[in-house]
Amino acid sequence: MKTISAELAYFLRGRARQNLKVLLYYCGFLLLLILVYASLFRYLMLHLEGREYSFIAGVYWAITVMTTLGFGDITFHTDIGYIFATVVTVSGVVFLLIILPFGLISLFLAPWIEQRLRYRPSFSLPPETRGHVLVFGVNPTARVLLRKLGSRKIPFVVITDDYDESLRLEEEENVRVVCGSPTDVNLLTKVRVDSARYIFANLSDTQNTNLCLTVRSLCKTPIAAVVEDPEHIDLVRLAGADKVVPLQRIIGRYLGIRSTTCGALAHVIDSFDALQIAELPVYGTPFVDLTLEQAKIRQKTGMTVIGVWERGTFTIPQKDTLLSSASLVVMAGTREQLQKMEDLTGEQKEDDLVYILGHGRIGCAAANFLDRKPVPYILIDQMENQHCQKHIAILGDATNRNLLHQSGIEKAKGLIITTNDDSTNIFLTLSSRNSNPHMRIVARANTEENVAQLYAAGADFVVSNASVGANILMNILESKESIFLTEGVTIFRRTVPQILVNKTIEEAQIRPQTGCSIIAIERPGETLQLAPTPDTRLTAECSLMLIGSPEQEERFSKHFGVQRI
Ligand code: ADP
Ligand code: ZN
Repeated sequence: MKTISAELAYFLRGRARQNLKVLLYYCGFLLLLILVYASLFRYLMLHLEGREYSFIAGVYWAITVMTTLGFGDITFHTDIGYIFATVVTVSGVVFLLIILPFGLISLFLAPWIEQRLRYRPSFSLPPETRGHVLVFGVNPTARVLLRKLGSRKIPFVVITDDYDESLRLEEEENVRVVCGSPTDVNLLTKVRVDSARYIFANLSDTQNTNLCLTVRSLCKTPIAAVVEDPEHIDLVRLAGADKVVPLQRIIGRYLGIRSTTCGALAHVIDSFDALQIAELPVYGTPFVDLTLEQAKIRQKTGMTVIGVWERGTFTIPQKDTLLSSASLVVMAGTREQLQKMEDLTGEQKEDDLVYILGHGRIGCAAANFLDRKPVPYILIDQMENQHCQKHIAILGDATNRNLLHQSGIEKAKGLIITTNDDSTNIFLTLSSRNSNPHMRIVARANTEENVAQLYAAGADFVVSNASVGANILMNILESKESIFLTEGVTIFRRTVPQILVNKTIEEAQIRPQTGCSIIAIERPGETLQLAPTPDTRLTAECSLMLIGSPEQEERFSKHFGVQRI
């Protein structure tokens, strides 16, 4: 089945697609010719021989004569009629019996055979290959990862045993692929596993374990493995992986954090030592409908607002940025400052309630996160989760409004939508937003393409599996200390570049030249200086916490030299 669809896909792309257009035009021309002949046939029969035929009979006559079948049931008996019939037969032979099959062969069959013969998958890399990244397995996470590696000009090679996938990647995406079984020692030697920079194991948990063991029997090249089941983390690590990424658990946690409306401490997304990065939904706090200047968050708590989310759009805030009930502020500060924020806003803790639609691995991880807070939640799934002994879900289809109503969803403050089907997720987001404008809706996107649709349907926050996975792997590769906020926003740490030592922030011109903003300055042995003023002097021992897009981060590295910590 897969082979048929792969072959069909061939006709729908590239040159074959162009050729398909030519064929359609040609068929249109043949149809027109038949219609013209049918009309002429009727005209000549009526005026030369006084016989009247229907239009269908005309088409029938033209086709039988053009294909040289000529049953002889309808024939002319005049010279002009014979000449006309001869012209129709000859043109039929030329257009239908010679040009059409020839065209089909030269436009489709020959290029297809040529492509098959020409494509020889590689089974090894040149001996001098070094410093390359080996990506095992092709899935949505790997596809995003390949794009990122490509855009950063990091050499990489994909290893897959799927012939069609390797053909597609090489022909269409210009990706270097080696075809073969990922756990074959010979293949690993041939792809120069010992001189690779990093190995990304993106296969099933069992295959990843096998791959790690095989690689470890050959060399010490670092391996980052994505695991599906958190219970396998230890095993994969034991097999030799240096970094293990329990993607589903991480995504579940991301969704969990963003679904609760309880206090600020619950919203810590990540931290850089003392610096905590937290998100706070504005709804239900004293800051609704105030500008950032009026809210006086800094004066009251010491926290610095470093960004504002408004239904999927992240902005670096200005004084006059308005905080609406749908906004979410991203703040940086110490634990004590967060505690102050919690004291200020955390009153609604008791009535917090989250609904989780979908109890797969991600839904289960989100429930585990809420268990630890603890925040009460209700799980709904159409099937029992065989791998979970801990949670009990309401069984039923989440798209059934009656079921949701009976389960009391109107009381929910937060909603996590995490089924494995994006159309279901979009439908659920839209209908939930429609019935409850203030609910915090966080949704999971199984493919990148649906992120925008989920935001358009009314989600407050969307987490895309592939994007999160690829970002984590890129950070591991570049041993970057950075926090992933969303696609396009990261927080990162750098030492003060040599050329900026002893300059003030104003003189350093970091924002005008790179677009990145300094959110804090760290000095050894001192407390963190948040939101430093423009006259703060940068010294050699300082490190800077910055926020910006990956491009702005890149610009920073290029402009001031890469000095990661
Ligand atoms: P993951 O492990 O990545 O979370 P799964 O495929 O295991 O992905 O989980 C998705 C869950 O969503 C499954 O348990 C499935 O039963 C559930 N699900 C899918 N569609 C619906 C629906 N319409 N109503 C309720 N649950 C659903
Ligand atoms: Zn569970």
